[in-house]
Amino acid sequence: MSIRIHPIKAFNDNYIWTLINENNKQAIVIDPGQAQPVIDYLETHGLELTSIWTTHHHHDHIGGVAELQESYPMTHLVAHSEHGVDEDQTIKDGSTVSAWGCSAQVWDVSGHTASHMAYILDIDGQKHCFCGDTLFSAGCGRVFTGTIEQLHDSFKRLNELPDETLLYPAHEYTASNLRFGLSIEPDNEAMQQALAQAEAQTAQGAPTLPVTLEHERAINVFLRTQEPSVIAGVKSKVTIDDDNSLTVFAALRELKNNF
Ligand SMILES: [Zn+2]
Repeated sequence: MSIRIHPIKAFNDNYIWTLINENNKQAIVIDPGQAQPVIDYLETHGLELTSIWTTHHHHDHIGGVAELQESYPMTHLVAHSEHGVDEDQTIKDGSTVSAWGCSAQVWDVSGHTASHMAYILDIDGQKHCFCGDTLFSAGCGRVFTGTIEQLHDSFKRLNELPDETLLYPAHEYTASNLRFGLSIEPDNEAMQQALAQAEAQTAQGAPTLPVTLEHERAINVFLRTQEPSVIAGVKSKVTIDDDNSLTVFAALRELKNNF
């Protein structure tokens, strides 16, 4: 199966991840916050939209859904019942979604919102995880309608995926997240290298994504809450009651809110 995965840019820093089947010229978009950039891309490349998947209800992820349904009436909309759209297939944790014979597992990765889903698509044994606003490269989403405990659990769960899993967050926040990470772990060489690379890519308008989970484990402080260097970095800034992963994770999220 040849599925190409392409980021359509929207707003300032959103990516609408697009699955493209080169054989039949069909496309699936994930989290279309805007319709026009999607329509422009599909028309330029002679593609037909057949499915929309959403991860959560925020406007910059669903804002283009209704217009795309009007423009492409045959489109199959996949969403959770709390995403605020008129879905054809209602999903929850454990659901399976299909992309031209490839299956995607749906995982509940709440915390940013209370009904945040991730899609883990398996193409010929390689996993591709569309994680919305739960995990960003070198960072994590803010807590809105979910809880910090849920977000911490979601990170633990995502961290169980295979090393080579490719992660596709919905925003380009990599460089600023790395600057925060380096404020916690100034001597982390993998982070220093990743920041130099992300700054060069961003200057050229090139996405820093996707990233492997193996890479994230080296550069994302929110996946590194049990590393002595991260615990020490947090303690140099705030007082925490214990070194538990959740305590460190919550302190990091709070520090990032004010970074
Ligand atoms: Zn969001």
